[in-house]
Amino acid sequence: MKTQIKKSWAEPYKMKMVELLKMTTRTQRLKAIKDAGYNTFLLKSADVYIDLLTDSGTSAMSDRQWAGMMVGDEAYAGSSNFFHLEETIRKYYGYKYIIPTHQGRGAENILSKVLIKKGNVIPGNMYFTTTRLHQELAGGTFTDIIIDEAHDPLNSHPFKGNVDLDKLDKVVKKYGAKRIPYVSIATNVNMAGGQPISMKNLKELRAYAKKNGIRIIHDMTRVAENAYFIQQREKGYKDKSIAQIVKEICSQTDGATMSAKKDALVNIGGFLATNEWDVYEDARNLVVVYEGLHTYGGLAGRDMEAMSIGIVESLDDFHQQARVGQVEYLGNKMLDYGIPIVKPIGGHGIFVDAKAFLPHLTQDQYPAQTLAAEIYIDSGVRTMERGIVSAGRKANGENYYPKLELVRFTIPRRVYTQAHMDVIAESTYNVFKKRHKIKGLKMAYEPKYLRFFQARFDKLG
Ligand SMILES: *Cc1c(COP(=O)(O)O)cnc(C)c1O
Repeated sequence: MKTQIKKSWAEPYKMKMVELLKMTTRTQRLKAIKDAGYNTFLLKSADVYIDLLTDSGTSAMSDRQWAGMMVGDEAYAGSSNFFHLEETIRKYYGYKYIIPTHQGRGAENILSKVLIKKGNVIPGNMYFTTTRLHQELAGGTFTDIIIDEAHDPLNSHPFKGNVDLDKLDKVVKKYGAKRIPYVSIATNVNMAGGQPISMKNLKELRAYAKKNGIRIIHDMTRVAENAYFIQQREKGYKDKSIAQIVKEICSQTDGATMSAKKDALVNIGGFLATNEWDVYEDARNLVVVYEGLHTYGGLAGRDMEAMSIGIVESLDDFHQQARVGQVEYLGNKMLDYGIPIVKPIGGHGIFVDAKAFLPHLTQDQYPAQTLAAEIYIDSGVRTMERGIVSAGRKANGENYYPKLELVRFTIPRRVYTQAHMDVIAESTYNVFKKRHKIKGLKMAYEPKYLRFFQARFDKLG
């Protein structure tokens, strides 16, 4: 018998400083989650052991990024860090005009106000919470044009972020291209479980949009992770670098909004980018109202410097291999335990299918919210709901009932170790073993906007 030699890889960095964590008891956690209204967003981070609430702004910065913070030029206007950021974005993403914003939603607010008029329709490859809300607040309506496979947690399509061009064509025929200011395309679709769009699909979409005179706006929050999947899965890309693929993706679009708190490895920051002078001019006028002058957009000079360095680090092939590799390691452990997760394993986290995990709960008993609370109680691991609570209500007040009812285990970049991943999988399995005894929740307080952040719940007796 031949021994199989496993070829392991490891992180392309080592630790220079560590952050100590507080360990809690089950009794302490039971009290903490009750005080938080069974909403993991309302827990104090000091009561959390392993924090998988989000991969947003939770990355560990490199020594070079920290060094960059020290050369922050805090001039109110024309900071040299702005020009460095502009140069970096032009070089690596290829967009012409850029405006920094305090984070992704700052860019979404401005872009929506510039491009959307009342009665407009914005097709997109699945909604994102803040993106859709800004589109609606600007008077538009979001329409989902992602392929059907994306709504099926068990379907292992390699590019679940793809657009269904027939769905888009129906929207264009129904409303007319004039009422569609742009198609909103996310790379590595967050709400679908961190699933990529293929270059082939993007190019077909580009051709269709061009023919109909419709822009493509790119939500490029996780573009580097998407590029990694293209490199691994798409024909003709295995010898291209992440940096080359990212630039090619961006070249298929007319502008972008970016939350640099994800792929770009910073704790705060974002930007708006466009290739159109008119759009840039309008956006530059608005940024002063909502964010700050167009050369800082709500950021300190040092934040812009850390962002420039983080963008370059995020495009390193070894970095992305370790990043997505760690997520896959956790996902495979969960699968070994028989835990139902969204497949294929996504780029930024593991999404547990709460409907399959807790089949005895109805969607109105908030299965994903319930499961997130139970996992916290078991081990102090903080996850979050991505289901009916996150989906919110329609303009007419009715609840959205999303097909996907998920608990998101989002992995911060460069923060946790493989041993942490083991603890997370074991704790989830612990809860899985006693899942039949778990009771659901009822909502006790519901905020008007983005309710998942601040809603409170009571345990059903
Ligand atoms: C996080 C995120 C945003 C919003 O960015 P913030 O920096 O949190 O304001 C927009 N789109 C996607 C896909 C995101 O994941």
